[in-house]
Amino acid sequence: MNLHEYQSKALFAEYGIPIPEGRVAASVDEAAKAAEALGGPLWVVKAQVHAGGRGKAGGVKLAKSVEEVAEHAKGMLGRRLVTHQSGPDGLPIDRVYVESGSEIDRELYLSLVVDRASEKIAIMASAAGGMDIEEVAARTPEKISTVFLHPAAGLQPYQARQIAFGLGLEKAQQGQLHSILAKLVKLFADCDASLVEINPLIVTKSGEVVALDAKINVEDNALFRQQRLAGMRDVAQEDEKERRAHEHDLNYVSLDGNIACMVNGAGLAMGTMDLIKLHGGEPANFLDVGGGATAERVKEAFNIILTNDKVKAILVNIFGGIVRCDLIAEGVIAAVKEVHVGVPVVVRLEGTNVEKGRQLLADSGFDIVAAADLTDAARKAVELAGAAA
Ligand code: GDP
Ligand code: MN
Repeated sequence: MNLHEYQSKALFAEYGIPIPEGRVAASVDEAAKAAEALGGPLWVVKAQVHAGGRGKAGGVKLAKSVEEVAEHAKGMLGRRLVTHQSGPDGLPIDRVYVESGSEIDRELYLSLVVDRASEKIAIMASAAGGMDIEEVAARTPEKISTVFLHPAAGLQPYQARQIAFGLGLEKAQQGQLHSILAKLVKLFADCDASLVEINPLIVTKSGEVVALDAKINVEDNALFRQQRLAGMRDVAQEDEKERRAHEHDLNYVSLDGNIACMVNGAGLAMGTMDLIKLHGGEPANFLDVGGGATAERVKEAFNIILTNDKVKAILVNIFGGIVRCDLIAEGVIAAVKEVHVGVPVVVRLEGTNVEKGRQLLADSGFDIVAAADLTDAARKAVELAGAAA
């Protein structure tokens, strides 16, 4: 789960990590009041969306008067912001963050992530801050220094020094960085974060090290014990289909293709997507209806799949180990009956009660294409989607 910048910065403040003073605003009026309360001479108005790259997309604007703050807020609120991370439709700007402007001497990069390979928290830092870190990592990886934290020993002073040297910090800033690092490590663990990123971490003209941007991802599997953070969820920033799927305990991820998949089991779903691609098609989604797939959930899955108007065919691939194929067939038939399914449905069933399931589909009177096996199913779905496109 992602937090907004303003939420992340509130957490930074709680942990004593220096940030510029700022206030969140949901209206132009609130933005102007926030600017007045902060006082000038310089402000920054920042669109609060779950995507980076706002600066280049017009979502971060400097203002020299309260009127200008209001103008920028007016230009942002109620619109959608498209950045290179937001997807083509962009994300809604429901709030702006109004912040006291900083005078920047240097822009640095600093992040903490869970590194799966080493099973440790990795701290990454670079003097090439402010820009796209993925690009720095791809083109000039030597500009990023990484240290790994021992799970029991935590951050060691030599590691903090190593990062400070890598960033080329002066003596006066080294101590500030060390203190920020120690607080970040504590925040990271306390919040069950999977990522904390500060880009840029700045050195101001007066020599202060300050977090100018803030991004926190909280591990979804830990939300049950992070009630306060879970309460910060902003569903308006999330994919509507993914949110609905989550409500029904379905594992759904939106993709760009036109063949919708409904599969029981994450591994089988991955395999199904691979086969679709192997046969020249593109999956429209990943969808795992889980082991306890009921007719009701199959119906809801159809509903979610069909809200994507790119879908030209649906591939249902069920292995009846725990579930019974006849139940799934009933679910498919009920869904086709109730939901208006205007695209071909290819079904591959295998496992418990498979004969009964296939018979139900054949007798249903609906145009449901039965597939002999998974390869056959993928071929048929690709062919039908191609014909409809
Ligand atoms: P992002 O583009 O979504 O990552 O948004 P950031 O919060 O990182 O802001 C983008 C850029 O705007 C920063 O790298 C800075 O160059 C600039 N910026 C943000 N806040 C200030 C500020 O207070 N003063 C100045 N001079 N520039 C700022
Ligand atoms: Mn940034």
